[in-house]
Amino acid sequence: MNLFDYTRPASVEAAIAAWVPGAAWLGGGTNLVDLMKTGAMQPGKLIDVTRLPGLDRIETLPDGSTRIGAMVRNADLAHDAGFARAFPMVAEALLSGASGQLRNAATVGGNLMQRTRCAYFADPHSACNRRTPGAGCDARGGDTGGMAVLGWSPACIATNPSDFCVALAALEATVEVQGTGGKREIAFADFHRLPGDTPEIETALQPGELILALRLPAEAAQFAANSRYLKLRERTSYAFALVSAAAALRLDGGRIVAARLALGAVAAKPWRVASAEALLVGQAPEPALFARAAAEAVAGAAPSGENAHKIELARRIAVRALTAAAQGTPDRMPALPASVFGEPAHV
Ligand SMILES: Cc1cc2nc3c(=O)[nH]c(=O)nc-3n(C[C@H](O)[C@H](O)[C@H](O)COP(=O)(O)OP(=O)(O)OC[C@H]3O[C@@H](n4cnc5c(N)ncnc54)[C@H](O)[C@@H]3O)c2cc1C
Ligand code: SF4
Repeated sequence: MNLFDYTRPASVEAAIAAWVPGAAWLGGGTNLVDLMKTGAMQPGKLIDVTRLPGLDRIETLPDGSTRIGAMVRNADLAHDAGFARAFPMVAEALLSGASGQLRNAATVGGNLMQRTRCAYFADPHSACNRRTPGAGCDARGGDTGGMAVLGWSPACIATNPSDFCVALAALEATVEVQGTGGKREIAFADFHRLPGDTPEIETALQPGELILALRLPAEAAQFAANSRYLKLRERTSYAFALVSAAAALRLDGGRIVAARLALGAVAAKPWRVASAEALLVGQAPEPALFARAAAEAVAGAAPSGENAHKIELARRIAVRALTAAAQGTPDRMPALPASVFGEPAHV
C-alpha cells in the first residue's frame, strides 16, 4: 500500500476545492480500496465523500422524475419500497450485483465509476493500456472468456461490470455532476465510453468532477409492470455477469407500445440497442419477435478472443429477458434470481 492523504470534507464545495490531480473520491471503497491494495490504483489523496450532506436522499421532483443522491447505498436503494415499485428492473439489477455486505457499503456514485474486472487491469505487473496508456494489452491472447464482444478495440477488450448501469441505460437516466466549472448533466448513454484508442478515458467525467446524483425520468416508471433484469453468471450467490439483459415493455391492447433493451457485460459500456427496440414497437409480444429483436441486439458482435460463446449467450439472455418482461414483473422479486437454465414462469 502506498502512502496517501485522506480528507473528509463537510460540503460539496469543500470536496471540489480539495481535489488535486492524482486524487480520488472515496465512496464505499469496495472497488477503489481493492485496487489500491493490488497497486492498480495509486491515488495520492482520498477525498471521502460519503458524509457529504444532502447526497443520501431518494426524492421525487416536481416534474415527476426521481432523483437519487450519489451517496445512497446500493442496498438502501434496492430495498426502498417506493423506488422498487416504480423501478423494479433497477432494484432487480442492484440485487443481482455483488453480495449483501458489499451492497450495504457500495454507493450509487461508486457503482457508476467502478473499474473493469479485467484481471490484467487489476494486476500492475501486466501490460494494460487502460491503466498505463501505450503499455499494450496482456488480455489479448490471454484469458478472454469474459471479455467484450461488442464495441471493443485493438487497444482494449474489457467490459463494464456494473449490473445497475445496464438498467439505468435502458431507462435513460441522467447523471448530475459538479466540478470547479460548476454543475452539468450527462445523459446516461454518453456517460461511459467505448475504448477506441484511448481506453484510459472511461467516462465523460472531467478530472475533479464529482457525481452528485442520478435522475430517472417520470416515463421510466411506466415500464414498471413489464420489466426484468436477467443475469447469467458462473455462481448465483454472487459473481459478475457473464452476460445480462435489461428488458422493459409497455403493453397496450396486446401490442408493445414502447420497448427498452440493453445488454450488460458485452462491452465497455451498457449496450442499449435502439434498433432492436424499434423492431418491437407496434408488434404483439411473441417468441419469434423476441428472437428477431435479440438477434438485432447482438448484430455486429465479434469475439475478442476465445469468447464467441458470449455472443450466443447474450442473444439468449435477451430473448429470456424480453419473454420474462412480457409475462409481467413479479409482485415479489426473488431474493436470489432463479436459474436462467430452468424454465420457471418468469425466466
Ligand atoms: C467481490 C465483489 C463482487 C462484486 N460483484 C458485483 C456484481 O456482481 N455486479 C456489480 O455491478 N458490481 C459488483 N461489484 C462491484 C461493486 O458494485 C462496486 O465495487 C461498488 O458499486 C463501488 O461502489 P463504492 O461506493 O464502493 O465505490 P468506491 O470503491 O469507493 O469507488 C469506485 C470508483 O468510483 C469513484 N467514485 C466514488 N464515488 C464517486 C462520485 N460520487 N463521483 C465520482 N466518482 C466517484 C472512486 O474514485 C473510484 O474510482 C462487486 C465488488 C466486489 C468487491
Ligand atoms: S483488456 Fe483493457 S483493461 Fe484489460 S489488459 Fe487490455 S487494456 Fe487493460
